[in-house]
Amino acid sequence: ISAAGDDARVTRSICCYCGTGCGVRIHSSAGRVLTVDADPLHPSNQGLLCSKGRALAGTVHHDGSRVLSAQWRGSRSERRRDIALDEAYDIAARELARIIETHGPNAVAFYVSGQLLTEDYAVFNKMARALVGTNNIDTNSRLCMSSAVTGYKLTLGADAPPACYDDLALADTVLIAGANPAFAHPVLYQRLAAAKAARPDMKVIVVDPRRTDTCALADLHLPILAGSDVALFHAMLNIMVWDGLVDDDYIARHTAGFAPLKQRIHEFTPGAAENICGVPAQDIVKAAHWFGRAGSALSLYAMGLNQSSSGTAKNTALIHLHLATGQIGRPGTGPFSLTGQPNAMGGREAGAMATLLPGHRDPGNAAHRHEVARLWGVDSLPELPGRTALDIFEGLRQGRVKAVWIAATNPAQSLPDQARVRAALSRAELVIVQEAFSHAETLAYADLVLPAATWPEKSGTVTNSERRISRVRAAITPPGDARPDWQLACAVARRLARRIAPWKAALFDYDGEAAIFAEHARMTAGQDLDYSALTHEILDRDGPLQWPYKPGKAPDPAASARLYQDGVFPTGDGRARFHDGGYAPVAEPVSAQYPLRLTSGRMRDQWHSMTRSSLETALTRHAEEPRIYLHPSDMRRGRVSDDDLVRVRTRRGVLVLPARQDDALRPGHTFLPMHWGSAFMAGDGINALTSSARDPLSHQPELKHSAASVQAAPFA
Ligand code: SF4
Repeated sequence: ISAAGDDARVTRSICCYCGTGCGVRIHSSAGRVLTVDADPLHPSNQGLLCSKGRALAGTVHHDGSRVLSAQWRGSRSERRRDIALDEAYDIAARELARIIETHGPNAVAFYVSGQLLTEDYAVFNKMARALVGTNNIDTNSRLCMSSAVTGYKLTLGADAPPACYDDLALADTVLIAGANPAFAHPVLYQRLAAAKAARPDMKVIVVDPRRTDTCALADLHLPILAGSDVALFHAMLNIMVWDGLVDDDYIARHTAGFAPLKQRIHEFTPGAAENICGVPAQDIVKAAHWFGRAGSALSLYAMGLNQSSSGTAKNTALIHLHLATGQIGRPGTGPFSLTGQPNAMGGREAGAMATLLPGHRDPGNAAHRHEVARLWGVDSLPELPGRTALDIFEGLRQGRVKAVWIAATNPAQSLPDQARVRAALSRAELVIVQEAFSHAETLAYADLVLPAATWPEKSGTVTNSERRISRVRAAITPPGDARPDWQLACAVARRLARRIAPWKAALFDYDGEAAIFAEHARMTAGQDLDYSALTHEILDRDGPLQWPYKPGKAPDPAASARLYQDGVFPTGDGRARFHDGGYAPVAEPVSAQYPLRLTSGRMRDQWHSMTRSSLETALTRHAEEPRIYLHPSDMRRGRVSDDDLVRVRTRRGVLVLPARQDDALRPGHTFLPMHWGSAFMAGDGINALTSSARDPLSHQPELKHSAASVQAAPFA
């Protein structure tokens, strides 16, 4: 018996959770999603889904969970009232125009999200830079991918992951560093597990302070002290140099800067690295030999490298291993950064980050600004550097930024050092929150709420970790007054333009997502990612495609599967760069008062701040409440037992949480899941504790390390 009626339909789309970008089929009827299963034709997941993807249908229809209408309050002492969409658009335009005229364009900022589709990103970016006239636009991908962006650009010359998912099955050695795909990218983990089962000689090395579930595949686990990755990678390279495992010919023909790096890493002997990283020297030697002697070596990495005050240096140090051994541009090779969100890549392509422009251009480059201005049809773009994520909120706190428009992200849960973030939101003159879910913590600070459509109500495109662009398709219509993000942005932008630059209103007259994509794609022409000839129509006809997609040619999957197959890099002279960021310890070392190293990370069945994933009961069973995980020796030292309530304290805040013994941790390390915010627990949530120390180049915060103390609560 089927619940589907005569109008039953199947819509092919993409899972809205992680950067794996799995294809799904949405089975719907009478405006309701009935079930979701894997799209067997999508090349990224090949018919696989994880627990989150399989549970998608259960997250869609929940009474009371959605923002169904626009809301406004004229002052902070009032309660918000429901208003019509047209009134909301007028208010947004009026208030933004007032702030721009009074304080200038840089008093406005946009904080957007890797949950947005590329078309949404493109419109927001155009509104910020071409209409408002500010570079103050950044995305929550700043929290997950910006160190990977800077690492790629400094070494390979472009922000482009060079490998593809098929390489998981082709590598002889897979080095997984600072990533837990078993939880964060489960379908990639499944593909790797299948490959290892088929090829038992494949070596898997996992670098992580915790023995995560991913270590079930590990032939070698290096449980390094949190934050010491650069020293480990330098030591591995030093060993490969000494043992003649580097590829001198590749280095000579395709790279620059190896000689000075070789000198600088000289001091990172296996013994010295053991002292810094806390893992046996012989294991470091073994890892270096497995990597250096492999016919093909692939690295997978994510937040453990990126969310660090030396995230860029960690990325470049890992990429050096590939450049020095020529392990790039061939099947089964390459430094492969796994993106966290479904469209972190699309946001980078659309340039919706303070440090980027569309088509991977650079806002600090006058020629690039001129090109983008011409393509958008405006005279010029702003020169003043934009504020990155944390600086937007610091600007609000200091009163330099007056208005922020937040779309599809929940900074009142997800940004570190919540006390400062919430103070910033309270201080703002205008907070616009464009949101789908009514329990998002950030709504408490909104003056104006715009009701957003969400998966599976939206249409457009996303790009996954392997540079594959897929169509997202709406299966049902949004409830109430909810609208796709790009429509809300365009409606306000047209009204704002009429107030501050009337001729620019036409810049936001799109007749649909396909037109936005066409404009966006044209902006990639001549750039490293060039997919200027790609359209929604082609994607609908040919299915998901990787970039670069060459204009005027039939798609050539082999050409796009891997980058740098010819050893030529987009650096001007064609040579990749060794760029030594140097080893630096964590920003907040442990002390007598704060003796524990607090790391944070994902649980398998939750997603970000749980606005969607908390709606499906099956997903909450895996971890029903937030806990602080401690090594047994630290439990004994603190006289703490399982389920005791403990006070977890950092320099920024304190939380009371139940303790859980976990011998997968290194002694002295403690782990906190990242998902729970004030909507689901007492206090300001997990990020009341985390640090806003950041990498100086990528501006990515060090969410992976804070110095902490844990004490039994008196009432425990
Ligand atoms: Fe969705 Fe990621 Fe799971 Fe694929 S691996 S089903 S994209 S959460």
